[in-house]
Amino acid sequence: MHVLITGGAGFIGSNLVHYLLREAELDLGCQVDKLVNLDLLSYAGNRENIKDLDDDPRHVFVQGDICDAGMVAKLLREHRIDRVMHLAAESHVDRSIEGPEAFVKTNVMGTFTLLEAFRQHRVGAAATGGPSFLHVSTDEVFGSLGPDDPAFDERTPYAPNSPYSASKAGSDHLVRAYFHTYGLPVVTTNCSNNYGPYQFPEKLLPLMIRKTLAGESLPVYGDGSNVRDWLYVGDHCRALAMALLRGKSGETYVIGGKCELKNIDVVNGIIRIVRELAPGRVTKSAEELITFVKDRPGHDQRYAINPARIERELGWVPRENFTSGLRKTVQWYLDNEGWIKRIGDGSYRGERLGTIS
Ligand code: NAD
Repeated sequence: MHVLITGGAGFIGSNLVHYLLREAELDLGCQVDKLVNLDLLSYAGNRENIKDLDDDPRHVFVQGDICDAGMVAKLLREHRIDRVMHLAAESHVDRSIEGPEAFVKTNVMGTFTLLEAFRQHRVGAAATGGPSFLHVSTDEVFGSLGPDDPAFDERTPYAPNSPYSASKAGSDHLVRAYFHTYGLPVVTTNCSNNYGPYQFPEKLLPLMIRKTLAGESLPVYGDGSNVRDWLYVGDHCRALAMALLRGKSGETYVIGGKCELKNIDVVNGIIRIVRELAPGRVTKSAEELITFVKDRPGHDQRYAINPARIERELGWVPRENFTSGLRKTVQWYLDNEGWIKRIGDGSYRGERLGTIS
């Protein structure tokens, strides 16, 4: 397998690259001969996340933009790529409210550029059986659920509410169209909220872990009653590999942990586990730490996932529950405080210049 991964220096991408190169052969019997990791190193990309793979001859890191059609075509050709796993995106909802343009550019135009380059590439290259373009998307494309609505599944109509989810919805539709119009063997996955190592510290879990340790106030939107489904990133990565290897072309698979939690319960769980794993470092009570702040505009109330199809057809089930996954996550952030510090002071961006030894 010669695979091109986009966004492989980001949160899920770097976990996926590690999974494919270190675990997938034993776990799924899938052999990666070459993994080209194309990432722009936007603010969310961090070369340090994949630094330990620099000595692996199968891993080729390329700093570049998925919107650069000529460069993408060259990579596909020169590395004889037969599979694409597309994760590169602008991914933070709050940033999409502040500045939606970058989301349309990367998420919609970037996905289009990749699809078109891969379609042209396959015309000239031998086609593999099964899906060869995996598009990684989000459950946010389905909009918001009421408290008693059934969970999202593959038949749920799209109803995105933020510029982020609208741009991901646009990319999902392009992927679908490339299957129906050109027969490109694609698979799309729509996953719920991930958490785990290497998540950029602006996102809920790492933000709250860091602030709990620093004794700073923990901002919770609205009254904290918004519900999300949570999945440990390692379980998501295994699902992505399975969707690529065993999925049916043209299908979509929703992925989730069957773990619906209110934001306020997630935050209280974080405080509890940080207190347990870092005794003596949390000096304030949960009441003293948590501050409720003005709600985000267009804030979806509830997401939930019914992953019956991927369980039934691909044999995937999560290995972590929220407590075990949260323990692993908090422990990782405790063991890697230098990683967070280098993001906080901006020095992680020097990595691309080779200034971090
Ligand atoms: P992330 O923001 O941590 O990483 C995105 C990566 O893409 C970064 O490394 C960034 O440098 C790179 N990138 C951005 N623009 C690029 C461009 N134009 N060209 C090349 N690279 C570019 O995001 P993440 O949380 O790892 O999410 C990865 C994918 O998974 C996204 O497509 C996202 O929509 C999807 N997803 C995320 C979650 C979640 O909970 N984090 C859940 C479901 C789906």
